[in-house]
Amino acid sequence: MSCSYETKNQYIKLNIMHEMGIALQIIDVAVRSIPKTNDQVQVEAVHLRIGKLSAVVPQSLTFCFDITKKDTPLANAKLQIEEIPITAKCRDCGHEMIITEAFFKCSQCQEGKLEILSGRELDIVSITLSDTER
Ligand SMILES: [Zn+2]
Repeated sequence: MSCSYETKNQYIKLNIMHEMGIALQIIDVAVRSIPKTNDQVQVEAVHLRIGKLSAVVPQSLTFCFDITKKDTPLANAKLQIEEIPITAKCRDCGHEMIITEAFFKCSQCQEGKLEILSGRELDIVSITLSDTER
């Protein structure tokens, strides 16, 4: 018998910029998502959404996560990281665009008054649990 639990639409904002701190917070959140009635539950995967402006390097976070997950219910868990591009909206002409260069200016009217719309995310999108032995 196996079952899996999804905590969809549970967006948890994490504010620590340091990857090790983030890895510890992810593990803490995931462990708290395990039902107390079933101590066989293991975390299979944690799905994250990371904006490119969040100052989090996905490879560093994965490295820290792999170190800190040992001896926790996440020992076999995988991090699934979705990188979110930086998008912005021009305050002058309303044009919305994806930012790929370090110098931010509107690609339509060439003015520089941009409002950042996305790119700062660091969200836990879902946590997948399973009570099957691997
Ligand atoms: Zn513009």
